[in-house]
Amino acid sequence: MSIQEFVAPHSLSEAKSLLADGAMASVLAGGTDLLVGVRLGTRSPERVVDLKKIPELTAISVDAEALHIGAAASAFSILHDSDVPSFFPGFAEALDLIGSTQIQGRCSAGGNLCNASPAADSIPALIANGAQCVITGPAGDHQMPVEDFVLGPSKNALKEGELLVALILPRPSSQTADAYLRLTPRTEMDIAVAGVGVSLTLDGEGTCTAARVSIGAVAPTALLVEAAGAALIGTQLEATAIEAAVAAAREAACPISDKRGTAEYRTHVVGVLVARAIAQAQARIVEASS
Ligand SMILES: Cc1cc2nc3c(=O)[nH]c(=O)nc-3n(C[C@H](O)[C@H](O)[C@H](O)COP(=O)(O)OP(=O)(O)OC[C@H]3O[C@@H](n4cnc5c(N)ncnc54)[C@H](O)[C@@H]3O)c2cc1C
Repeated sequence: MSIQEFVAPHSLSEAKSLLADGAMASVLAGGTDLLVGVRLGTRSPERVVDLKKIPELTAISVDAEALHIGAAASAFSILHDSDVPSFFPGFAEALDLIGSTQIQGRCSAGGNLCNASPAADSIPALIANGAQCVITGPAGDHQMPVEDFVLGPSKNALKEGELLVALILPRPSSQTADAYLRLTPRTEMDIAVAGVGVSLTLDGEGTCTAARVSIGAVAPTALLVEAAGAALIGTQLEATAIEAAVAAAREAACPISDKRGTAEYRTHVVGVLVARAIAQAQARIVEASS
């Protein structure tokens, strides 16, 4: 291990200074990816900057417009000590699939996103919900949509000295619901062959007025498939509309073949999951309004 210094600052400004003084520093939220990388020798930071003691990075709050989730808030606290599961059951399902109870006690949504794995479970769910990244660094603060944040496997859009502060999810209307589904070869402790996040809004007659479909593990980054959402808007989610959304998702997918499945299998599975996630989000809206 190369770590020479472990620092746990209590303020964001302190963390920013520790990341901007030229040391080979890595941020640690839960450490469930970072420390595995250090053990494997794929990561070799000299300084580790632990974010868990910075109040705004672990805070979760809701206002009239949005939910704000601190980038280092643990999956467990999001799932059990916040309103997130009632507003975003699909996003909560994605977090609840990560690892195990022990992993969820440490890991964060921010870490899942920054780690930029093509198979990360929370990313399609965040994209489906139109989440924004709040970023701070030497040049100040800015925001970007989650779908623009991941640039490739293990590569994100953060510049030197920057860190992710929070995720902002626009508050859904009572006629909006999300869903996240994934397929893994094993039922526990495995990563996705394909993952799908869907968010739908329906009007009083059941017509779809907004839809976002995101697919994971079938391309170098999770993708927002705009054509899949567009195929649903203005319809009553009848079979032809769902088939068009499935076809758009399969068209957008460009998976690899590996030990978890061939490219052909992943492409098939992602379409199946799109259809099921649409049905699940629709059922949630119908149930909430009945
Ligand atoms: C046994 C096991 C099972 C797992 N199963 C799954 C699974 O089913 N699905 C899944 O998606 N993942 C899984 N993972 C991967 C991992 O648990 C998740 O990616 C987790 O969400 C990472 O969060 P973390 O807080 O632990 O990140 P960390 O390890 O702390 O950080 C991950 C990376 O992001 C950077 N980073 C973290 N926070 C910030 C920030 N705020 N700003 C800038 N950079 C930051 C770190 O420097 C590091 O490079 C598993 C891991 C293990 C060990």
